[in-house]
Amino acid sequence: MTHLMDTYQRLPVAFTHGQGCRLFDEDGKSYLDGMAGVAVNTLGHNHPRLVKAITEQIGRLIHASNLYRIREAEDAADRLAAIARMDEVFFCNSGCEANEAAIKLARLYGHSRGVEQPMIIVMERAFHGRTLATLSATGNRKVQAGFEPLVSGFVRVPFDDLAAIEQVAARNPDIVAVFFEPIQGEGGINIAHNEFMRSLRQICDREHWLFMVDEVQCGLGRTGTWFAHQHAGILPDVMTLAKGLGSGVPIGACLATGLAAGVFKPGNHGSTFGGNPLACIAALTTLETIESDALMARATHLGRAIREGLQVGLSDLAGVIEIRGDGLMIGVELDRPCGALVTQGLAAGLLINVTADKVVRLLPPLVMTDAEGAELVAGLVPLIRNFLEG
Ligand SMILES: *Cc1c(COP(=O)(O)O)cnc(C)c1O
Repeated sequence: MTHLMDTYQRLPVAFTHGQGCRLFDEDGKSYLDGMAGVAVNTLGHNHPRLVKAITEQIGRLIHASNLYRIREAEDAADRLAAIARMDEVFFCNSGCEANEAAIKLARLYGHSRGVEQPMIIVMERAFHGRTLATLSATGNRKVQAGFEPLVSGFVRVPFDDLAAIEQVAARNPDIVAVFFEPIQGEGGINIAHNEFMRSLRQICDREHWLFMVDEVQCGLGRTGTWFAHQHAGILPDVMTLAKGLGSGVPIGACLATGLAAGVFKPGNHGSTFGGNPLACIAALTTLETIESDALMARATHLGRAIREGLQVGLSDLAGVIEIRGDGLMIGVELDRPCGALVTQGLAAGLLINVTADKVVRLLPPLVMTDAEGAELVAGLVPLIRNFLEG
């Protein structure tokens, strides 16, 4: 029995420590980590550079508050602004908080333009978080059910569908922003076309809408570029980050540029813990290590190898609908619900995940080696084969 509130259906395993891409449970059994704590442990486990940086920071200063300047936050913001080519950064502690900031920013922007009931376009199968506004923006009834009344002010369109957005533009003068994931994670590894993003950027420019991307899962090197929208060669007005930003230390960020810069003024938004020195040092070290250790190239290279390995091992099976992804964000869509694979993976010493009922999802740490990637494929292929043929 546990006194933890019953919000998660947890697997029957607890980890005591990790090293690189391995986790170890209470019995000393070792697992290959294909999930990175849901795209969080960018640098794997017990990364010496991260451990040293945050340990030293803990000894200096953990928290002083946003009543004062925070040099570590200023440094992390400078670095993020430079790699994103955006102007401003608001730090918070999680993905849903970053998205709350984006939603509030869009509304404030709308009001500044005289729109009294500003509306934001969001997409089907989107996942934006579990707070009231972000679950309302989420395109999954299971996340919303029971929490009505939902927050209003969202218009939903199919994912990756420009015509649907043009229709909304034509009949709704209160739209002020579009908000979507360049690659939907929880929704099943659904990839927006680059052409869609480029055309959407043009619509946003034409309509003076904010182009807002939720890169909480797909951002920070995972798809081989710093951010997934960069594959399309466009610049968003607002971008949210969290998961991989601190390699396990909680931190989120909402970035703004263009029309979205300068919208928040003192008193409009805040967070007690946001931008604390400890979390910002974790973020800075993560960003520096992604760069110094060429982890984006690693994600591109290893992601391709894993997808090719899965293709070779599984493509003859009729039950495999599609193997897709970008970099180290990989989905294998099957023709049937496959949640049982997670438990079977656990027994085989593999940490994998299933999302959207039928999609086996891999989100390994960016430090995964070629040998570990091959091990992941070699473990997963027979699991999926037996599951479909068994
Ligand atoms: C996980 C996730 C969130 C929510 O992040 P939390 O830190 O759990 O609040 C939001 N958007 C996307 C795309 C995510 O994957």
